[in-house]
Amino acid sequence: MKPTQFEYDRPDSVEAALELLEEHFDAELLAGNQSLGIIMANRFASPERLVDINRLDELAFVDIRADEVEIGAMTRHRTLERHDDLREVLELLPEAAEQIAGPAVRNRGTMGGSIAEADPAGNYPTALSALGGELHVVSVDGERTIPVDDYFIGYMFTDLEENELIASVSFPREPFPVERSGSAFVELKRGAQTWPTVSAAAAVTVDDPASDDPLVETARLAVGNAGGIPLRVDDTLEALEGEPLTDGALETVAEAVRDDADPADEMHADREYKIEMAGEYAVRSLRKSYDRACAGRN
Ligand SMILES: Cc1cc2nc3c(=O)[nH]c(=O)nc-3n(C[C@H](O)[C@H](O)[C@H](O)COP(=O)(O)OP(=O)(O)OC[C@H]3O[C@@H](n4cnc5c(N)ncnc54)[C@H](O)[C@@H]3O)c2cc1C
Repeated sequence: MKPTQFEYDRPDSVEAALELLEEHFDAELLAGNQSLGIIMANRFASPERLVDINRLDELAFVDIRADEVEIGAMTRHRTLERHDDLREVLELLPEAAEQIAGPAVRNRGTMGGSIAEADPAGNYPTALSALGGELHVVSVDGERTIPVDDYFIGYMFTDLEENELIASVSFPREPFPVERSGSAFVELKRGAQTWPTVSAAAAVTVDDPASDDPLVETARLAVGNAGGIPLRVDDTLEALEGEPLTDGALETVAEAVRDDADPADEMHADREYKIEMAGEYAVRSLRKSYDRACAGRN
């Protein structure tokens, strides 16, 4: 099938893109086109106008500041995957990026497109939920900041308005001191070009990596594709604090994840299997993060 006919604009400024979104109710932004084109070709969506934002270079950046990291919406997966400075601050996002499909998708796909799409299996929604990130969005009415916790509302349903553009996302650095934090993104998938069956993103900070038995100071976790939005079990994670990360503690987390998981059946993975794997990958991500924190590797 081919998409239905549409108008096409390629503005040179964010302001011009926002004007077009405001003017044309049925306009859709076009970023890396690694999802939209497929959706349109299958006629699951037939926007009357595409607003191509690939000329908006000001939206492609990675800004590592003392207190937070900010990433522009047009930053490609490939850029994040290869960003050594970001990897040194926190491994999680580059590790999430490098596991997205193959090079062709990663060369074009963007942070903003992935967050806007809000697929529950998407790597960045899961990673940003674990990091406690924020979205910075703009429209002709001005700017606003949306905490990730308020952004994902339901299955591919978000707090983003029709006339809004995601300009960037950010996450705080303070909870993740480089010398004693570790993070990891792990996923189960059938092949390189497929979306994950389940995934998990975690970040753990320990009190003293040099001690014989480092204690967990903070632990963060989000599980992907275990429901309509990234799954969090924050209350259970609090119980890990001040303790070493034992197998018993990890099993408690796995149980909480399995209890709260509400995934949809898929052709290659039924609901029960996904629930079981959600618990397993939650454990793997926390263990890997803890081991990295103890090794002084973020
Ligand atoms: C074969 C294949 C495998 C894939 N596997 C994975 C995977 O394992 N994990 C994963 O996370 N992703 C996966 N993806 C999806 C990929 O990451 C896409 O790049 C991403 O989901 C969409 O980003 P995009 O830049 O291509 O957006 P587009 O396709 O251009 O747009 C997607 C949607 O986002 C909107 N949008 C885009 N940018 C903005 C913005 N700045 N503000 C507001 N709205 C915006 C568009 O209007 C559109 O509705 C896969 C894709 C393919 C084709």
